[in-house]
Amino acid sequence: MNEDCIFCKIVVGEVPSEFVYEDDACVAFNDISPQAPTHILIIPKKHFTSMDEAQEQHKETLGHLLLKAAEIAREKGFAEKGYRTVINTNRDGGQTVFHLHVHLLGGRQFIFPPG
Ligand code: 5GP
Ligand code: ZN
Repeated sequence: MNEDCIFCKIVVGEVPSEFVYEDDACVAFNDISPQAPTHILIIPKKHFTSMDEAQEQHKETLGHLLLKAAEIAREKGFAEKGYRTVINTNRDGGQTVFHLHVHLLGGRQFIFPPG
């Protein structure tokens, strides 16, 4: 756990948050500032700063997060219509919380490219 990391605090329950999904490797919870009718963040339990840190050893975790995003989207009922998964990386990527997370956004139409 990184003591200064808000998402690590959410993982251990120091900052209360209702999990929409949890397993040994990850948790998922609603974004505090939703950008779509459904906006869920899926994060590894183990602190991992960003995609900029990704190495061969992280491939299982990264695959797991994306697979869970797909499963949650199906459970929520918007998978067939469509949805967006986003991983922001570092300053130019718009990352503001430096504990890797997958955004799962659904329930509305998205445009591409994003701003
Ligand atoms: P980023 O910009 O790093 O890709 O996304 C960080 C996301 O975390 C933002 O969408 C922001 O609203 C969300 N967020 C920041 N702090 C908290 C928090 O304490 N609780 C929850 N649930 N979401 C947070
Ligand atoms: Zn963390």
